[in-house]
Amino acid sequence: MKTRPFGRTGIDLPTIGQGTWDMPETGARATEAQRALRRGIELGMTHIDTAEMYGSGRVEELIGAALRSVGRDRYFIATKVLPANASYRGTLAAAERSIARLGCGHLDLLLLHWPGSHPLQETMRAFDELVERGKVRFVGVSNFEPDEMLQAQSHLRAPLACNQVLYHLGERGIEHRLVPVARERGIAVVAYTPFGRGKFLRSGRPAREALERIARKHGATVHQVALAFLTREAHVFAIPKAASMAHVEENAAAGALELEPADIAAIDAAFPRGRAGPLATL
Ligand code: NAP
Repeated sequence: MKTRPFGRTGIDLPTIGQGTWDMPETGARATEAQRALRRGIELGMTHIDTAEMYGSGRVEELIGAALRSVGRDRYFIATKVLPANASYRGTLAAAERSIARLGCGHLDLLLLHWPGSHPLQETMRAFDELVERGKVRFVGVSNFEPDEMLQAQSHLRAPLACNQVLYHLGERGIEHRLVPVARERGIAVVAYTPFGRGKFLRSGRPAREALERIARKHGATVHQVALAFLTREAHVFAIPKAASMAHVEENAAAGALELEPADIAAIDAAFPRGRAGPLATL
């Protein structure tokens, strides 16, 4: 698995991490998802993304249980505070609740899930305090427009590590402004829903065939080609969610796939960027 500098945090993270939205919460499927998460870590996908919102805290608990047998320095856990909880005091309390559910001692990364009605300055003040108290190593935002992202950065003493945003082959809007602004400012971009929950393959037959040709050439799958394309820039990461062992192994192997300039040009033509517009979200 390739790793690369994660914003201005001073640490490197794998290009491909693991999402956990909609992770199965009960029965054999939950057990399989927990095993798959550990397997992903073994394969280098150490960046685990979750949120207090997922399953109303239940997903954080499942991750905590899955990782109990894994050394704390073997994974990097990111979670998100809900905007409704993101007052100064609410943020401090939310971080403590997430730490308790995850049983991880401290968070590696805490994000504001999307911009809300609490003053951003207050949330960022709590973020700085959590970093200074050693509860959280790094902080960032999610679903922030470029200008909002810069505003968040201006309120922080800590570096703003990343902006986590929607990015897949059928939704490339962030390439117009957000990706270049983040590059200039040393902020990592984390691509969520990198498969569009399956939607990117519904972009029409010629587009799909173009992707299949590239996949065949590299002995790869279309999902692996999609991940390699999305992470082609040195400050962009992706966090696909996979609850099955086979998908986890496939996604981890995408970390080694190198696309050629001709492949990038062909994907660019098959899945056009579209016009610039407001930030797309789920
Ligand atoms: P996604 O990763 O685009 O798609 C997940 C779906 O793709 C699942 O059905 C999964 O199946 C399937 N899949 C995974 N690997 C595959 C492979 N190699 N081949 C074929 N299918 C594969 O969707 P997502 O869960 O929305 O996004 C990923 C993560 O981003 C989330 O889990 C969450 O952590 C984060 N996220 C953040 C926000 C935000 O607002 N910040 C919003 C949405 C998502 P199985 O599960 O059956 O393996």
